[in-house]
Amino acid sequence: MKINRRTFLKSSGLLTGLLLTSKSSLLKALTLENGNFKVIKGNIGIFTERGGTIGWFVNDDSVITIDSQFPETAKNFVEHLKSKTNRKIDYLFNTHHHGDHTSGNKFLSSYANEIVANENCVRLQKIRINSEDSFPASKTFSDEMEINLGKEKIKAYHFGKAHTGGDAVYHFVNHNVVHFGDLVFNGLYPFVNLEDEADFEGWIKYLETCYNKFDSETTFIFGHSTDPNKLTGDRENLIVMRDYLSSLLDFVKKNKSEGKTKKEITSVSEIPNTPKRIEAWEGALKINIEQAYDYLNR
Ligand SMILES: [Zn+2]
Repeated sequence: MKINRRTFLKSSGLLTGLLLTSKSSLLKALTLENGNFKVIKGNIGIFTERGGTIGWFVNDDSVITIDSQFPETAKNFVEHLKSKTNRKIDYLFNTHHHGDHTSGNKFLSSYANEIVANENCVRLQKIRINSEDSFPASKTFSDEMEINLGKEKIKAYHFGKAHTGGDAVYHFVNHNVVHFGDLVFNGLYPFVNLEDEADFEGWIKYLETCYNKFDSETTFIFGHSTDPNKLTGDRENLIVMRDYLSSLLDFVKKNKSEGKTKKEITSVSEIPNTPKRIEAWEGALKINIEQAYDYLNR
């Protein structure tokens, strides 16, 4: 849903009502009013419009945003955010360099004190994203970083190449919520491009590392799903994603060793031994197979 003047005035009206109503019922009202800007747990919520899911955190001490979608949707996101706080964004984090996660950086930079990403995310953004809206993070980390926010603490991790060469996950430690970027395409065939330094084996390992790093109570925010209820999930979703990637790799490996051509292998309509996924764009499965084929040939 696009925010319009009426919706915005409605939310502002709700804010005025803050003195009369309790904070939690205000949050609930905002959630119901604006379906694509909603609370998922405590002070943490998501925003969806176009591109990768934005994660947000707002309390009295700090405002955090993870990923920025596109300039026009980042603008809509800010209108929602303004209805919750007058503060600037303390940190905008990027999960990886893809345009549907970072093209709103430039717009958000005037609302954010600092933009943070993994060093490889910034490196790839500079070589791979050819857009005037590309605006890489100014602060980077290599493997791990910790930021204290008073009542909350964020730990950032990079466990090597996976969906891209610069994927980071961000853990709100006290809420036990992780923004997981595009490491899980929940129920969809994933976007894979070796030119973004995607690495199938690295991705499988990354998912296993995170499965063990976090616990059964952890809530994960996923970059993409066509089902709004599957934009968040638990660590079992990581295993489903891992199983898809390894079945895909095994399938292509086996067919290759039997002497089949790339074209012959891509003629299938699904990967054996793995639940069918949705093709969110035309040829998604075919591209997955081709990328796996080229990966095995590298
Ligand atoms: Zn991506």
